[in-house]
Amino acid sequence: MLRSAIRPLAAVSRKPASSMFSTTPKRDMKILAILYDGGKAAEQEPRLLGTTENKLGLSEWLKSQGHEYIVSSDKEGPNSVFQKELKDAEVLITTPFHPGYLTKDLMDKAKNLKLCVTAGVGSDHIDLNAAVDNKVQVLEVTGSNVTSVAEHVVMSILLLVRNFVPAHEMIERGDWQVSEVARNAFDLEGKVVGTIGAGRIGYRVLQRLVPFGVKELLYYDYNPLPEHAAKEVGARRVEDLKDFVSQCDVVTVNTPLHEGTRGLINADLLKHFKKGAWLVNTARGAICDKDAVAQAVKSGHLNGYAGDVWNVQPAPKDHIWRTMKNPLGGGNGMVPHYSGTTLDAQARYANGVRSILENYFAGKPQDPANIIVGIGKYESKAYGQREDKQKTSHGFSKS
Ligand code: NAD
Repeated sequence: MLRSAIRPLAAVSRKPASSMFSTTPKRDMKILAILYDGGKAAEQEPRLLGTTENKLGLSEWLKSQGHEYIVSSDKEGPNSVFQKELKDAEVLITTPFHPGYLTKDLMDKAKNLKLCVTAGVGSDHIDLNAAVDNKVQVLEVTGSNVTSVAEHVVMSILLLVRNFVPAHEMIERGDWQVSEVARNAFDLEGKVVGTIGAGRIGYRVLQRLVPFGVKELLYYDYNPLPEHAAKEVGARRVEDLKDFVSQCDVVTVNTPLHEGTRGLINADLLKHFKKGAWLVNTARGAICDKDAVAQAVKSGHLNGYAGDVWNVQPAPKDHIWRTMKNPLGGGNGMVPHYSGTTLDAQARYANGVRSILENYFAGKPQDPANIIVGIGKYESKAYGQREDKQKTSHGFSKS
């Protein structure tokens, strides 16, 4: 993977050039983390590191380094801990599982903010263009949960194609009517499966589908896979999105959310899907038009939709994706946002956040793969095509 030289990140963004490469470890910093409440589960299970109770396992260490560490789940409105404490915080840690939405307006007011760290993968809850303009750096723990998500995608594809949820619900109800569930159950073998986005997660999904004997694996991505990688999984690239979806029995979405993917799957595109196709989205809820998807499931044009990401999180109680069904009463594989927050993943992203902070405090260079927005420019190529502002390689990586 090509990597460009990235300057050290510590103490750089809003300071004069003379202080940019200071290697004196920084102290007395205010670090704000917005995480989700884990409640009783987090008290009983210390490996739930991404919670307000367990604080990414960073409390003692940050204290010993002389920093102030504020952790809260309270993130909405001007009186929230998030908005109040952000005003003079230097580092903001957020998680996609309970996103503290960092708008341009909030960023403009956060005069001391220099570094945003995403505990996980996917930094769309931060206005990245504002981060570029304000010279606030945005890093995520790239790769930390990509296997976790790819496994969830494969599970979701299988549960839709095999009509698993209604079959299980039948058993819980005490019923037994095989034909009722078998009438809409299929094999994955022989189907065409395509991924929108063939980066770390998309590629892992393709890899995991090879043994299922699908008819063909397709991908749609403005960054083509390296030839050897495409060959290894036998994936064919389709360059036109409508053409791509019209060939797939199953579509899985694995792109970041940005201007080019918000609402990408809408009523117009859904018309081009095969009748009875299945759609899995573990990327971001807002990539799909909520009502267009619900309507397509209701009519049976989509045989099912599954995923764990929602256009607002936590999803409101009456969110239509919670209860939508196809005409045969199935086709819903929705769960809360948790595919990328398995206990294994939490250990990886908690460690990753600590490494990023260690580098920042010590003025050491960061892993280039973790940098979404560097100092005043996009470093990642995965958040839209911005040829003038970006310089890193394709998101594809087996590591
Ligand atoms: P990645 O950067 O490795 O890959 C993203 C790929 O999407 C890149 O190859 C990029 O070129 C492609 N892409 C971007 N815009 C596109 C577009 N308009 N059309 C087609 N392709 C496009 O990222 P990743 O690690 O594979 O993660 C992808 C996304 O998955 C994250 O940004 C995040 O939103 C989501 N995610 C969800 C969870 C979860 O728990 N549900 C966990 C991790 C990541």
